[in-house]
Amino acid sequence: MGGQADDPRQQFTAAWEAATAALGEWRRQIEVATNEALDKLEPAVRAAVEAGRSAVTGSWRGCRCPCVTAHPEDKGVCDGRAVLTRRLGNADVSLCAPCAVAQGVAEMPR
Ligand SMILES: [Zn+2]
Ligand SMILES: [Zn+2]
Repeated sequence: MGGQADDPRQQFTAAWEAATAALGEWRRQIEVATNEALDKLEPAVRAAVEAGRSAVTGSWRGCRCPCVTAHPEDKGVCDGRAVLTRRLGNADVSLCAPCAVAQGVAEMPR
């Protein structure tokens, strides 16, 4: 049996790849830039979060993003459910998808 499609990790990876692809698209668009890009991205990220959440229910930690300092302009976006780990300085920090997006934007030169 080739039941790989039922592997929740694989499903999550596919969902996250879709989200990061959308992120790349968003970054490109932000260079030409309007908030409309954010409106386009958000549903894609939300879909990935939902997919990841259902695939790995209960096995992910909460978001540890230091929202106030990491993305002060978007601190309200955190949904508290980590979907990835990102290396910040010397530490791995669990981030939810909205925070990962917000931090990506925060790193963009204005
Ligand atoms: Zn945050
Ligand atoms: Zn968060």
